[in-house]
Amino acid sequence: MLQETVWDTGKPPSIKSYTLGNFRGLPQIQKLTEEQRFEMEVVGNVLPFKANNYVVEQLIDWNDVPNDPIFVLTFPQRNMLKERHFERMAQTLRDGADKKTVAAVANEIRLQLNPHPAGQLELNVPVLKDGTQLYGMQHKYKETCLFFPSQSQTCHAYCSFCFRWPQFVGMDEMKFAMRESDQMVQYISEHPEISDVLFTGGDPMIMKARIFETYIDALLDANLPNLKTIRIGTKALAYWPYKFITDNDAKETLGLFERVTGRGLHLALMAHFNHHVELSTPAVKDAIRVVRATGTEIRTQSPLLSHINDDAGVWAKMWRDQVQLGCIPYYMFVVRDTGAQHYFGISLTRAHQIFRDAYKQVSGLGRTVRGPSMSATPGKVQVEGTPVVAGKRVIALRFLQGRNPDWVQRPFYAEYDEGAIWLDDLKPAFEDKFFFEDELKTRYSGARTLEKS
Ligand code: SF4
Repeated sequence: MLQETVWDTGKPPSIKSYTLGNFRGLPQIQKLTEEQRFEMEVVGNVLPFKANNYVVEQLIDWNDVPNDPIFVLTFPQRNMLKERHFERMAQTLRDGADKKTVAAVANEIRLQLNPHPAGQLELNVPVLKDGTQLYGMQHKYKETCLFFPSQSQTCHAYCSFCFRWPQFVGMDEMKFAMRESDQMVQYISEHPEISDVLFTGGDPMIMKARIFETYIDALLDANLPNLKTIRIGTKALAYWPYKFITDNDAKETLGLFERVTGRGLHLALMAHFNHHVELSTPAVKDAIRVVRATGTEIRTQSPLLSHINDDAGVWAKMWRDQVQLGCIPYYMFVVRDTGAQHYFGISLTRAHQIFRDAYKQVSGLGRTVRGPSMSATPGKVQVEGTPVVAGKRVIALRFLQGRNPDWVQRPFYAEYDEGAIWLDDLKPAFEDKFFFEDELKTRYSGARTLEKS
């Protein structure tokens, strides 16, 4: 069944998802060769794949496919899998294997893609005073805890680079989901150092307002004196802006935002935008306007991604457009060491060059952005540049956030290496190990012991 267009019918648009099961019905996909469609099926059986009618009809320029950045962002591409993984799944499909076999092969490949980078499973699981482990939360940095509502483990569309990909592909034992908002409240009340809670997922904005408000109201009703900020990590503005303007719970959602800001809390939408195209439609501009009118701040972030936004001009325009629309540029991330990192990854030296070239082009108001930053096991590490120190070219780094707050802002240096794409690839420039390594090892082995017990 081909998709009817829903934009000019006068009715509020309703979302239609495209996944492996129905993407072949898209008229736009008919332009691709059968080989390309098969390749998409091969990759889409391993990595998450979901697009929707807004992404397909308003964001992707089909005349520029397969190079269009939003097409690469949302549709599986052959080289996202390494050749041996691609061939293994391709052969499985060619053999006409049943669903169970396809799923088993997919899981086997996924487990080789570092599904939980940065020690997410071992290091960040909070524990209540009564000993209960909270697998629906993470507490990595002192002031901020992450909460994964069990109803938000999906998104309006999936990003092909997503490091949360294990949550979307039916590997239930890997989900962090937690139902109990009272456990979240209890944990925050037991930890007066926590000032920020970050709702994440998936995308919390996938939840209907009446469900989301049960979590928010639990926080508001608890009157936690330490809680100052609620953050919501979301890509809804980019993938389904109608959530805030015409969906049947749009008013309720905005009303909920107003309730939070009305209580004197800071509400921040941590909005994912990967390309300035996502800021260009009338719908997203409207959505940003109405969200901001509730007193919510919108801070923006994205990884730097080969094939999508590895160009200083793209970033400079994205930051300028964001500032013009009233958003605050916040982070440029280095793509994580998981999933299709070999496809999206960019060397740290080049990432720094792109950041610098883009930063130079924007006014002071756009220079709120930080990066390029790696969310690695020890913390958020920023690449500062490639200076010559003591007669030798090095890569200069510093922590923006650390598992130990005392690590923050301490400069350290790695051997200059144009091939390095992640912290693990770097070697200390002047010592035999980085200053944080011993302490990290102690914490890490402690966490493993805890996990086994
Ligand atoms: S919207 Fe966020 S959580 Fe969802 S697929 Fe994209 S990056 Fe992952």
